[in-house]
Amino acid sequence: MQFTRLRLNGFKSFVDPTDLVIAAGLTGVVGPNGCGKSNLLEALRWVMGETRPSAMRGGGMEDVIFAGAATRPARNFAEVSLSIDNGERLAPAAFNDTDMIDIARRITRDAGSAYKCNSKDVRARDVQMLFADASTGSHSPSLVRQGQISELINAKPKARRRILEEAAGISGLYQRRHEAELKLRATETNLERIEDVVEQLA
Ligand code: ATP
Repeated sequence: MQFTRLRLNGFKSFVDPTDLVIAAGLTGVVGPNGCGKSNLLEALRWVMGETRPSAMRGGGMEDVIFAGAATRPARNFAEVSLSIDNGERLAPAAFNDTDMIDIARRITRDAGSAYKCNSKDVRARDVQMLFADASTGSHSPSLVRQGQISELINAKPKARRRILEEAAGISGLYQRRHEAELKLRATETNLERIEDVVEQLA
């Protein structure tokens, strides 16, 4: 799967609709201080389902919406969409029926985030799983932000293992295991309740 386009609208400093073509072989973005390089990387993480405002350098998720400037009022929503070339049909099964996959995330003030895949509503979890299974995702080590290399050098072994797991494409399994454990616990509780009822009836 190859990312081919990133579109931003009202996201942080990208107040006007911006269309960035991601050509094959692109490995970095350069530009003067404050021009929005990190904001681009954050837009990529965000559309892949990032849930931590701190990873967006904000206090709350709505901080990603253009906050206004001397000459322009603040916006009420932010939207980022990512086009993925799926010509080789490498996407996980649930997304694998088209040659192009368009994932979009939109946040509206006081209304939270909504996701779409090829213009159809999808859940945040579906999008997160798509990228986790494809060995990328909002925590992917292939997106290198400032300061990350020194963090990696100083990281504890457990944190380093997470990076290897992410690269191996198995991080989605943790989420699935967690969900399976929750279901198992709920079922055990239901079984206990049934046993109580059976005992009372006996
Ligand atoms: P550097 O090279 O210094 O790290 P950079 O190119 O990575 O800079 P960014 O950190 O991506 O730049 O962009 C910073 C700019 O984005 C600042 O001018 C900041 O005011 C602006 N910005 C961040 N969030 C918002 C927001 N919600 N609304 C408007 N502007 C924002």
